Amino acid sequence: MSIAYDYAQDHSTVIPASRDRLLLIDGRRVPSASGRTFKSINPATEQVIATVAEGNEIDVDLAVAAARRAFEGPWRTMRASERGHILLKWADLLKIHADEIAELESLDAGKPISAVLRQDLPAAIDTLTYYAGWADKISGEVVPTRDDALTYTIREPVGVVAAIVPWNFPLMIGMWKLAPALACGCTIVMKPAELTSLSALRIGELALEAGLPPGVLNIVTGPGRVVGDALVNHPDVDKVTFTGSPGVGRGIMKGAAGNFKRVSLELGGKSANVIFDDADLDAASKAAAAGIFFNAGQVCSAGSRVLVQEKAYDEVVERLTARAKSLRIGDPSDRATVLGPVISEKQMKSILDYVDIGQKEGAMLTTGGQRVGDRGYFISPAVFANVAHEMRISQEEIFGPVVSVIKFRDEADALRIANGTAYSLAAGVWSRDMGRVQRFTKKARAGTVWINTYGYTDVRLPWGGERDSGLGREHGTAAIDNFTEPKAVWMNLNV
Ligand code: NAD
Repeated sequence: MSIAYDYAQDHSTVIPASRDRLLLIDGRRVPSASGRTFKSINPATEQVIATVAEGNEIDVDLAVAAARRAFEGPWRTMRASERGHILLKWADLLKIHADEIAELESLDAGKPISAVLRQDLPAAIDTLTYYAGWADKISGEVVPTRDDALTYTIREPVGVVAAIVPWNFPLMIGMWKLAPALACGCTIVMKPAELTSLSALRIGELALEAGLPPGVLNIVTGPGRVVGDALVNHPDVDKVTFTGSPGVGRGIMKGAAGNFKRVSLELGGKSANVIFDDADLDAASKAAAAGIFFNAGQVCSAGSRVLVQEKAYDEVVERLTARAKSLRIGDPSDRATVLGPVISEKQMKSILDYVDIGQKEGAMLTTGGQRVGDRGYFISPAVFANVAHEMRISQEEIFGPVVSVIKFRDEADALRIANGTAYSLAAGVWSRDMGRVQRFTKKARAGTVWINTYGYTDVRLPWGGERDSGLGREHGTAAIDNFTEPKAVWMNLNV
């Protein structure tokens, strides 16, 4: 397999190398307090595409103070409908600048541009529009208690929010946090992943253009263990919303305990896509391939375990293998590309290590699992057959284009294997027997179950998992609850 990448292409119209990416604090683009910077690399070419300000504890202090002032001042006191209008204007600006933002995201994260334009960016805009609509509809309720009292609740914003975002969907996951928090009247300090800071900084500029008052959205780029840690431990941050790895999530819960910050965590997954032998095997195999190879497998809800009933097993392995071989891998800026590089050299090595581990454990690699080319972090999509449930490749999150295909006997066996990891983010089930899919759905340990499909999300539906997959839910009304606190009011009517 070769890479169709045109290295001669010039992206300088979008990413002028000379333009430093600065922090966004209190409505102004500023260098970091230390003056230090770090490089952002295009994972498809390994070239430096931008220099980004490296924040530290001082920058976090300044950003939190700005967010606090904006919370006590213009944002909280503004009419709710006006907040909604500003968010809608921001959504309009994202649409106007869609090509530029998509190109930035594609270059910085190595994502196929077609996927960013079809999926990431529309989902981010949809999220913003949806929560803009919520801004003036967040209300308490009158609760009948006693005849001599008027008792009711008010929903109030939690305050200053730290939003810590991963690199796999910088724009979309970033917006999953920003939009509901802002609609609820919170102010934010956002920390993008150090591998993908660029789209966040650009949409931050557009937020100011849309009329977001200074200090409402602050962005501090830099390393997680410095900037992220300072936010998590900051006494004036009221809530942390985090998406990333279970290890960092665990540390965040501990750090947040200092001042009992509210915490919501979206962590990893090892989701099972379960195919019974009466399923439409063509549709199931296609969806299973998309479910693991989309975004080069760097998806928290990737269907990284495909469980197949005995009679259908060989056919699904064959179909998945053929599908993996057919995927076009290469230049993310080419609209025909399906599979881009993985995010970094470190991630590439970790994935290739898992391919070795799988082979040593005795699984059969039917295709892929090789580095492609010697420039850029491309890996050919890998299919492992004959995988046993206990193997590391079946238990641990690989976060790359590697699927483990596991055989099962019956419904009970499928459930035992599907529920048998530390994770519980999502599951898929394929069968024409509706009783069976409903029995499976009831018992699956998963925040989302897809029936005869895989991988869809919508901001109107709750999203998240338990155990190593996280704490709490994002999206829909769950996010409104995340960013507000109810206040009970008791008024004596006999005075
Ligand atoms: P990560 O946990 O290393 O980093 C996530 C973010 O946390 C980054 O911004 C990073 O800089 C920051 N961070 C790192 N150390 C920190 C610290 N000590 N304190 C505070 N912040 C810190 O994860 P990643 O490598 O960016 O992303 C991959 C992981 O994220 C995978 O495990 C994946 O499953 C998970 N993920 C989950 C979801 C979901 O919705 N559940 C979505 C995407 C990714």
